[in-house]
Amino acid sequence: MSLHQEFDSIASLRKALEARKISARELADSALSAIQARTDLNAFLHVDPALTQAQADVVDRLLAQDQAAPALAGVPIGHKDVFVTQGWRTTASSKMLGQYVSPFDATVVSRLQNAGAVCLGKLNCDEFAMGSGNENSAFGPVRNPWDTNAVPGGSSGGSAAAVAAGLIMAATGTDTGGSVRQPAALCGVSGIKPTYGTVSRYGMIAYGSSLDQAGPIARHARDLLELLDPMSGFDPRDATSLETCDEQANEPGRIRAQFDAAVQVQQAAGSQPLKGLRIGVPAEFFGAGLAPDVAAAVETALRQFEALGAQRVEISLPRTELSIPTYYVIAPAEASSNLSRYDGVRYGHRAAEYGDIQQMTSRSRTEGFGPEVLRRIMVGTYVLSHGYYDAYYLQAQRVRRLIVNDFQQAFSQHCDVIMGPVTPSVAKQIGENRDDPVADWLSDIYTLGVSLAGLPAMSIPCGFGGARGNLPIGLQLIGNYFSEGSLLALADQFQQHTDWHQRKPEHA
Ligand code: GLN
Repeated sequence: MSLHQEFDSIASLRKALEARKISARELADSALSAIQARTDLNAFLHVDPALTQAQADVVDRLLAQDQAAPALAGVPIGHKDVFVTQGWRTTASSKMLGQYVSPFDATVVSRLQNAGAVCLGKLNCDEFAMGSGNENSAFGPVRNPWDTNAVPGGSSGGSAAAVAAGLIMAATGTDTGGSVRQPAALCGVSGIKPTYGTVSRYGMIAYGSSLDQAGPIARHARDLLELLDPMSGFDPRDATSLETCDEQANEPGRIRAQFDAAVQVQQAAGSQPLKGLRIGVPAEFFGAGLAPDVAAAVETALRQFEALGAQRVEISLPRTELSIPTYYVIAPAEASSNLSRYDGVRYGHRAAEYGDIQQMTSRSRTEGFGPEVLRRIMVGTYVLSHGYYDAYYLQAQRVRRLIVNDFQQAFSQHCDVIMGPVTPSVAKQIGENRDDPVADWLSDIYTLGVSLAGLPAMSIPCGFGGARGNLPIGLQLIGNYFSEGSLLALADQFQQHTDWHQRKPEHA
């Protein structure tokens, strides 16, 4: 067992470090052994004890000099393997980047390191973050710690599985169409995707640039706050990074201040801490495709929110179904453009044998990319090509605008937050969707609209389902732009009254 598991939050771990009850090095060493003991999960792709220990020793030296512990001092974390790291290899779970080592760190990586977090290694994911079950990794599927024959969700499956199994305290993930929320839901942990532009994309391997956003995965909302706050902030090296969020500077401290203010309001309200809060429940999130066990758990969670004083409002997001074709035109279009950089010339895999340069590029790409990535590139180039651009890509952009409008109408007229399921069902068995890639695409129905609109959203554990009742279910909380601090406070209120987030799988 990892030593950090003795602490129920990042804040309590920091206190123990400050009091010298434990050292960052001890924490790192125990996490390294725990990771070794759970290679069956295939959650980690690259570990390097020397690099990890060096980071832990820096934190211990700071503490020995009686300096105040930085917010994340000694916290064992891992990075999804789409964040470039100077030490560990960065592969995006692709053969294309099988041996790649970056000459620089992603902004998210350096910010978390500066805050004192200790990196235990790089986490398995779907190849180039394309997938919903982590079965598209060139390095094999990740297993769900709750049932090792089930998928952990994707694409940040290694991140969610490693946190759920207690190997690390928190992890980074990326969410293009649900990849933080969905694996968090299927592994029984919490995850948040902030408003698009809040967290820098510099050094985050691009998939769909207008959608990609990084977010943390951890056990509960308070730990998510500890990571998200220092991760966020304007970065001049990312052209899509925001300088201000609703007239407030986009900088560390903003989300924490909003969280603290929301908690104060809750406390002042006494026994009805959520009084006045209107929760929009979209009818389209409870249609025929939703499994009864997920519907029941979400319903119970909604009643818990009502018991805390919130008011439930039935709303409509009429284009929910359309978000699937819209996303699966826009995301592949952007992917086909982003992935054109892997040409076998500059970096990445190069075929061993070829005639001319064209053959070199096509062979390198055919050998380097897996089937799902090739499928996306084909779809993406098709919808962007002359003659089809207007019919598909432009049309998808128009529908995207209507989806944004639907959310804005809900927030301006009916509700303060939207809630519903994250996924239509609990985790599938590994291999179940093998012959049907579209089944995976359809399972993203409740998460894609949020990504198309660039809104913040999170997933928190709210129950269990499946044939044996041992597979986690997530509740989705969707907020208006720049409301991540309030969302976290809302989730925290729920977690003070429930213990789903404290449940652990066997062997964790
Ligand atoms: N399942 C979606 C896709 O494959 C979302 C993945 C993600 O958010 N990275 O594109």
